[in-house]
Amino acid sequence: MDFDGLVAQCREILEEHPWQEIQRWKEKTGGKAAGYFPVYSPLELIYGNGMLPVGLMGGGNKTEIERADSYFGSFVCSIVKSTTELALRGELQLLDGIFFHSICDAARNLCYVFKRNFSSDRFIEYIHFPQNPSSPSAVDYLISELKRIRHVLEEANGRRMSEESFKQSIHAYNENRALIQRLYKIKAESPHLLSTAEAYQLIRVGSALPPEEHSSMLRTALEEIPKRRVRPRDKIRVILEGSFCEQPPVELLEALDEAGCYIIDDDLLLGRRWFEREVPLDGDPIRALAESYIDRSRYSSVSHDWRRPRSERLVERARQAQATAVVFCIAKFCEPALLDYPLFKDALEREGIPHVMLEFEEKMWTFDKLRTEIETFAESILFD
Ligand code: SF4
Repeated sequence: MDFDGLVAQCREILEEHPWQEIQRWKEKTGGKAAGYFPVYSPLELIYGNGMLPVGLMGGGNKTEIERADSYFGSFVCSIVKSTTELALRGELQLLDGIFFHSICDAARNLCYVFKRNFSSDRFIEYIHFPQNPSSPSAVDYLISELKRIRHVLEEANGRRMSEESFKQSIHAYNENRALIQRLYKIKAESPHLLSTAEAYQLIRVGSALPPEEHSSMLRTALEEIPKRRVRPRDKIRVILEGSFCEQPPVELLEALDEAGCYIIDDDLLLGRRWFEREVPLDGDPIRALAESYIDRSRYSSVSHDWRRPRSERLVERARQAQATAVVFCIAKFCEPALLDYPLFKDALEREGIPHVMLEFEEKMWTFDKLRTEIETFAESILFD
């Protein structure tokens, strides 16, 4: 299959039948499936237990919110409401459990709405990640939390996970992250060969597939990309920041791609490339995961590592990627992203890096206004 066919296949799976893939996997293996809300979730632990990790990324712009509004106040991001709407419609029935994480108040409340309303035939778990990674107790604390989650998974499965299966799972996700990194390398070095919307769909489809199957798709994509005949265009190199949890509509990413920007790095689907290096396979796998989370993970507005301020890391990332500018693409009412925005903005202004901010929500249909805004921004830099 050529590259365009592969991207079209990913889009079709994501838009038309993501649940068919999960149903197919469950029938084939007899295994269970566990959903995970963004941003990072210990997929290695879920998959090592023989369960399929399924990314819950909200309902997108095709889900009409009919009943979920009554469960929350008005000023809540779309992903919280649309995930609830999917559950109310019975569209999450294939999931035998769901994980939420300590990323923000909205996600915590969502977890307890799910516990109260949708836990009769599945487990609903809240994973507490350390709030202070610089504490000498952070690794030990996370080890105990991951052991608790391992126990939840083993109880749900009715059997213990072997160390071999855990390590195989870590290996599969190490490989998967390495392939995703190769896509990002292409985006940074030859951005005309791979648009952000294309890379995004290739990666996002992995939220409904086992890692080996997804990796095989990525390998095909990586073989096909150099064969594409696309000419470089005169565009500015930008970094996208702020879309680590709720995901912008694909049409918005396409509009950004077409509006004079090469997005050479972003934080879309950040949980799928959370670790900067491979999770070591020697030694205790739970400790390896915990240490990777504490010492070798990417920065994000939902984790608070005082050892390296996030604003410094954003500037460093922009410099390393030779980005001309930063585009903040933030979900409406996303508190972690909006609280970080003034700090990021100040740091960029101190360094003389131009930036622009866009707000999005899942139910967006028209992108002309945002596209014009970005075009004007890009032109102001190109013709300065
Ligand atoms: S989009 Fe932002 S506010 Fe909403 S659940 Fe995600 S991190 Fe929390």
